[in-house]
Amino acid sequence: MRKLLGLFFIFLFLFCPKMKKENKEEYYNKLRERMVKEQIEARGIKDQRILKAMREVKRHLFVPEAFREESYNDYPLPIGEGQTISQPFIVALMTYLLEPETSDRVLEIGTGSGYQAAVLSLLVKEVYTIEIIEKLAKEAEKRLKELGYHNIKVKWGDGFEGWQEYAPFDKIIITCALPYIPKPLKEQLKEGGKIVAPMEKDGIQVLSLFTKEKGELIEKVCDYVRFVPMRGRIEVEPEEK
Ligand code: SAH
Repeated sequence: MRKLLGLFFIFLFLFCPKMKKENKEEYYNKLRERMVKEQIEARGIKDQRILKAMREVKRHLFVPEAFREESYNDYPLPIGEGQTISQPFIVALMTYLLEPETSDRVLEIGTGSGYQAAVLSLLVKEVYTIEIIEKLAKEAEKRLKELGYHNIKVKWGDGFEGWQEYAPFDKIIITCALPYIPKPLKEQLKEGGKIVAPMEKDGIQVLSLFTKEKGELIEKVCDYVRFVPMRGRIEVEPEEK
């Protein structure tokens, strides 16, 4: 009897952590389902491909451990270095405005945690993403690789310059606020291509959708937003040249 009891405890000791982990995954799956239903679908984003991608990407693995429990809530969260991962709805909205197509090659400025890149990567052919903070760039690259997102390339650098080596791009998504679209980005966008970006004027930020027509960017303002500011060359060149 005592032997049996001993075996029982050994079994518990060996298998409980695994069971706990599985339950935790189930728990996050439920939170994610609810996030998509209540924060995204209910606010009018009905594109099934986008909803599917948002259901698939494990957002809790893109935030620091201390914030995992909150990762499916309706607000942005800190990811270290004074930066944030965007609110889930804003990620879905920017993705929707970009009208991702399976043949698209997309450039992202502001990798942060890599979450937006992961969502996009399920909807397009390739994602190229640039992050100015080395630590975040390296962490995101490692995370995306470990999670199996193989169609994303991460670069540590200033997004102002774009990524000439892989240009031109069908779409560009900018996830830090800026006063104007830098010339290299405009040039690296294909004719007919789109840019989604938070634009800051006089301290007010709006989410804009640009379309490149005859070499010029046509702007359409879509919403009010709150993003961290773009750093680097744009700070020394706050005016368009
Ligand atoms: N898309 C991210 C959130 C971005 S937060 C996510 O899904 O988690 C904005 C990011 O833009 C920050 O990480 C910030 O460091 C980065 N950033 C700011 N200026 C930049 C620049 N000039 N080039 C590239 N990244 C920049």
